Amino acid sequence: MSRISTDIAVIGGGVIGLAIALRLRSEGREVVVIEPNEPGSGASYGNAGSIADYAIMPVGTPSVLRNLLSLLLDADSPLSIRTSALPTLFPWLARFAYESLPHRYRENAGRIADLVSDASVQWKEFATQIGASDLLSAKGCLYLYETRKAFKAAAADIELRRSHGVAQELLSADEVLKLEPRLPPLEGGGLFFPNATNLRDPGEVMRRLTVAVQRAGVEFIRASAQTIARESNGIRVVAAPFEICARTTILSAGAHSRKLADQIGDRLPLDTERGYHVEFDMAEPLVERPVCPTANGFYMCPMQGRMRVAGLVELGGLAAPANPRLVEALVVNSRRFFPDLGEPSRTWLGFRPSMPDSVPVIRPSRGGRDVILAFGHGHVGLTLAPRTAQLVSRVLAA
Ligand SMILES: Cc1cc2nc3c(=O)[nH]c(=O)nc-3n(C[C@H](O)[C@H](O)[C@H](O)COP(=O)(O)OP(=O)(O)OC[C@H]3O[C@@H](n4cnc5c(N)ncnc54)[C@H](O)[C@@H]3O)c2cc1C
Repeated sequence: MSRISTDIAVIGGGVIGLAIALRLRSEGREVVVIEPNEPGSGASYGNAGSIADYAIMPVGTPSVLRNLLSLLLDADSPLSIRTSALPTLFPWLARFAYESLPHRYRENAGRIADLVSDASVQWKEFATQIGASDLLSAKGCLYLYETRKAFKAAAADIELRRSHGVAQELLSADEVLKLEPRLPPLEGGGLFFPNATNLRDPGEVMRRLTVAVQRAGVEFIRASAQTIARESNGIRVVAAPFEICARTTILSAGAHSRKLADQIGDRLPLDTERGYHVEFDMAEPLVERPVCPTANGFYMCPMQGRMRVAGLVELGGLAAPANPRLVEALVVNSRRFFPDLGEPSRTWLGFRPSMPDSVPVIRPSRGGRDVILAFGHGHVGLTLAPRTAQLVSRVLAA
């Protein structure tokens, strides 16, 4: 084993770990990042790129709870489950059902709202810091409600967002077409989030973020952390062939964080919501901003030289291969809006790190401040990276 001593060890180099590493390094700390793969190549690579300062709704809501069984068992619904994973998933699902009760859901929405409210402002600064301002677009985000009934049914969500100060504008079907002229006519309407921003290439932003972290003087250790333990002289992380001894360790291994958290006594119900994307190469994307047909559970996103269609939730753990039916569902449903789309140029499966209440875990470990937990960001990890780094820095300074 090669022995490495450091002030801060960050386990996991996704957008969360990288943002934390950059922040702590810029505050003068000695930082290493332990990451077995290309940094930023996990969930942080393939997402929809939306800096979703409007996305305060947890996944679990009273309406999802009412329809949970049919949603999970209907192969065409945006929320599905691999039945083989049911026994393992049962504790997470039971907690998810509880967190979907009206009082819990409202509280969870409030906690998410507190976290995401200034995300676009924070990302503007962050993108400048990492030399990625050219990839941050500020044209808002659009939800589509295809039928009048669906539009009407969204009233309670709209009211909840309003009560948390989210900027949103109701659009008629004609106004939707003024904003996105290439969409087909729809009967319902839209909801426009004017302050939202989006990344036009999350993978390229991750690459620039990694360069910024390296340039700042953070060392990358290409290895997977297997064990973590408290010892008299600090936190010992074994990531063969390395043994890292750190004064403080940040656990930010995304959907893979649960086992390591267990080892230091933090038993948390982290699991994964698997998500997919398909990409259609084209010189000019067909939409100007992320457009989400809410009934389908995905975003159509303008990216550099392509349109990415990203989303869906599949409960099914980390090991199972991609489900071709869900990839096909993304393609077929995108063609409802743009019938001329050909075959996708590439497809992708990723693993959102998800807590049953959709609220990320950003706090010291129960055993002490020498380990800080920073995972479970679910659908808003990209959005919350700068904010998470700020919160971790505050925990360290306290
Ligand atoms: C389809 C889809 C669309 C999405 N759209 C959006 C969106 O529009 N906006 C938004 O804000 N969020 C979105 N998200 C969510 C967002 O991508 C995630 O919340 C975020 O990327 C999580 O970041 P992370 O750093 O925690 O995890 P990851 O990016 O997965 O990084 C975790 C890292 O830890 C490493 N690791 C794992 N195990 C170990 C170990 N034992 N030792 C060391 N390292 C380890 C992995 O290799 C990985 O690099 C989307 C997600 C999906 C799947």
